[in-house]
Amino acid sequence: MYKERSGSSRSEILGGGAIDRKRINEALTKKLEKPSPSTSRAFVKPQLPDDDFNLCGLSGQVPYYEYALDLILDVESSNSEMFTEEQNELVESAAEMLYGLIHVRYILTTKGMAAMTEKYKNCDFGRCPRVFCCGQSCLPVGQSDIPRSSTVKMYCPKCEDISYPRSKFQGNIDGAYFGTTFPHLFLMTYGNLKPQKPTQKYVPRIFGFKVHKP
Ligand SMILES: [Zn+2]
Repeated sequence: MYKERSGSSRSEILGGGAIDRKRINEALTKKLEKPSPSTSRAFVKPQLPDDDFNLCGLSGQVPYYEYALDLILDVESSNSEMFTEEQNELVESAAEMLYGLIHVRYILTTKGMAAMTEKYKNCDFGRCPRVFCCGQSCLPVGQSDIPRSSTVKMYCPKCEDISYPRSKFQGNIDGAYFGTTFPHLFLMTYGNLKPQKPTQKYVPRIFGFKVHKP
């Protein structure tokens, strides 16, 4: 197990609102350039707001928080050489979770939603597979806000239903990195982007006759 670190504690970076946001943003940008799930077109690059909102409370949710943050920040950890391969994997996995949890908070901010608007307009999240939704652009949604519960799903604002992403890559992304709130708050905020409900409904027929429902 990791030992509690002393000396250069995280509070030097986080304390008193003294987060080095530029460095975090640079690290996140760098991470987005690496071939990892974070580079998926589904993600937007989080820009940290002017308060501590984005990181507040995450230390209790993410295991090995300090090491995970070091990894995102590309800070050389004095203990990193001592880690076993297995420990390194645990820290990398924690860093991915931390990144995702920063992301889910970011996309609920004004800037984050504006960034997601572009992706929605570009159909980066895919289109609804239903015929009568006529290729409606979807929005990502989680079925849970707890990480490692389920993968991300696509919400169609037209039929108001969810589906599996067509991209296998997107299908492996944790749903908690987008959360249960995002598409609904997004469509409330950008009411003009909410489409009309489908006017047609599929009717099952046998030899042209509607199927009798008992
Ligand atoms: Zn639909």
